[in-house]
Amino acid sequence: MNNIAQIGQWNVTVDIEATQEQYKKRWDLCDCTYCMNFYEAIKTIPENTYKLFTQLGINPSVINHLSHFEENEEKLHHYIGCYPLVGSFSMLGKKSKQKEDEEFFTVNKHLSIWFTNDLEFVPGFFPRPVIQLEFEIYLPWVLDEPAE
Ligand SMILES: [Zn+2]
Repeated sequence: MNNIAQIGQWNVTVDIEATQEQYKKRWDLCDCTYCMNFYEAIKTIPENTYKLFTQLGINPSVINHLSHFEENEEKLHHYIGCYPLVGSFSMLGKKSKQKEDEEFFTVNKHLSIWFTNDLEFVPGFFPRPVIQLEFEIYLPWVLDEPAE
């Protein structure tokens, strides 16, 4: 079933059930400590923020494209990654004098998201059409094991 959500300047149409099904399949997940930390730490974000992902059918702990950067002065770890979705999107009234920072939707000071048709790292089993939700997030270190 298709569901339409307006997120920032994107009008996103997602087949939530089909997307949920993909996240239940077997993914090749990285097992380095940075990724392992992400899979757990993402569960600790506020529920209404977490829902941004789950309402679209995403399981936030299943992700195969994640970049990790230095931790910031608040000791939060900076990650950039993307989640594929079964669906499509259109952009709401784009102004001609658009600033760079309007290409993102700032959810809160620790999370920005945006959507793209530039597909990378989409598992082969994903049905078409596919779009990607990309994000930049700051997460705490939650593993007992220290960061490398
Ligand atoms: Zn990794």
